[in-house]
Amino acid sequence: MLLLNVPYEEKEEAKKLGAKWNPEIKKWYVTNPKTYGNFLKWIEGGEVSYILCDELYLVEGKTQCYRCKQQISVIGYGIKKMVTLYEDDIEFIDGTIHIGSIIDPIPETLLKYIQKHYNYKMRYSKTIGDQYLANGCPNCDSLQGNFFLFQEVDSPFFIDSDETASNLTLYKIKLPYDLVLRNVEVGYGSEDDRIEKCAKIISLDIRL
Ligand SMILES: [Zn+2]
Repeated sequence: MLLLNVPYEEKEEAKKLGAKWNPEIKKWYVTNPKTYGNFLKWIEGGEVSYILCDELYLVEGKTQCYRCKQQISVIGYGIKKMVTLYEDDIEFIDGTIHIGSIIDPIPETLLKYIQKHYNYKMRYSKTIGDQYLANGCPNCDSLQGNFFLFQEVDSPFFIDSDETASNLTLYKIKLPYDLVLRNVEVGYGSEDDRIEKCAKIISLDIRL
């Protein structure tokens, strides 16, 4: 369900396009992602590129810290349903969980949860010459960079077999409303259908 910011004087227009009124929260909303492109001007947060629908996964993987060699837990994001909006185009991910390294902005309650359980914070990467919210080793605090974790063949989030998929734990978070995001970096692995089949999936009850 996507919430809309419809000014009073445009309500008939929104209604005609299929928006519905929720009297409890006093907002207009739409439910079919295939029609979201018709409601762009009313989407909260202004300039929008990505809308995450229904659910989001916090994905936990295991890796070896390159510096202290300890086995550590690191996280990414699992995305199963998402609408991507381009200037005149709209694209869907629907049905297969893919793993992302970045969602921006991260909802505050989710970020708090992550930072309580993982060593995840703003870190400077020499490789890209900028800082970003990144995984770190809980023992020696070394940056575990996104390339190392997501894109190399032996990365924990690079899925190429049932075995690599079964090493993941997915925490499933139900979204009360679709999440409007500025940026998402997601990989589309050809073997990603193994994730839902083989990984451990646990419901995580936090309210975003
Ligand atoms: Zn370490």
